[in-house]
Amino acid sequence: MQQPDVFSAAVDPEAQDETVVLIVDDVPTNIQILADILKEDYRVLFATSGEQALNIAATREPDLILLDVMMPGIDGFTVATRLKEDPLLRDTPVIFVTAMGEVEDETRGFEVGAVDYITKPVSPPVVRARVRTHLELKHQRDLLRRIALVDGLTGIANRRQFDESLDREWRRTQRQGAPLSLIMADIDYFKGYNDHYGHGDGDTALRAVAQTLKAQMRRPTDIAARYGGEEFVCILPETPLEGAEEVAERIRHAVEALAIPHAASPDAPCLTLSLGVATAVEPTKASQKSLLTLADRALYEAKQAGRNRVCSKTLYSKTLASSEPPDANEEIS
Ligand SMILES: [Mg+2]
Repeated sequence: MQQPDVFSAAVDPEAQDETVVLIVDDVPTNIQILADILKEDYRVLFATSGEQALNIAATREPDLILLDVMMPGIDGFTVATRLKEDPLLRDTPVIFVTAMGEVEDETRGFEVGAVDYITKPVSPPVVRARVRTHLELKHQRDLLRRIALVDGLTGIANRRQFDESLDREWRRTQRQGAPLSLIMADIDYFKGYNDHYGHGDGDTALRAVAQTLKAQMRRPTDIAARYGGEEFVCILPETPLEGAEEVAERIRHAVEALAIPHAASPDAPCLTLSLGVATAVEPTKASQKSLLTLADRALYEAKQAGRNRVCSKTLYSKTLASSEPPDANEEIS
């Protein structure tokens, strides 16, 4: 039986884009000097103030930041502190670039999260070496993190990655005022499948379904994850209900088209999937859990209505209060 290639599954092609270094200094000449040293090897962005640095960091998510300490307005220490407060940026390595004697107390920089110091006037080999070292460390951390976020059996995102991605995409869509959709999917009569064919074939079927879901994620921000057991979940940011229904129907059809025989299913000759779609029209801080609950309920309805189908629901901000959780005793298979 072929094991999923965890390594290649973990390495998102999006992550292999060019490496981006952000240089922050209120003196343009200083930026020019550093940019000349680094521009051969990296994509270099620059900011001439703390405010601008925070804006660029939030939108471009650089791989490393070279940060001047003394700047009018928001100084380097404050920029580093703010970066640490942002979950998307807190792991971005920050190297402080300071003039001799400019910073009395270097420990303060490390306290606010800097990984290193470089002193001005800068030496090109030192800049190159330090930047390369910290980028390598970051890439190793990123890789380990990505492996830890992959489901070992199926090679797609695991529950932990789902939780983290939902948090992140929720915040993003909330900022943009865009809708966000979830698809909950569950293999029909999977217990019967395992009982009839054995767990080896059960695992093979789980992999096939997982890869089919993943193949239907067409945009880099769409994520398919194993939610647990034979249950899967997809996050579709900036996707209205109709769009999510289309994706769900495509997934349902693709799983049916795998034509995996299921002799133990009372409804169909092959393995099928039931899917519940839920869309938050306006994601709010309070509604994240409600959306999951609603997707779960839509999935339950799809099961009740005869399986191998898609049911959907919409979460409006005003229906939030009435979205009570479904009966915990409701069993689905
Ligand atoms: Mg300065």
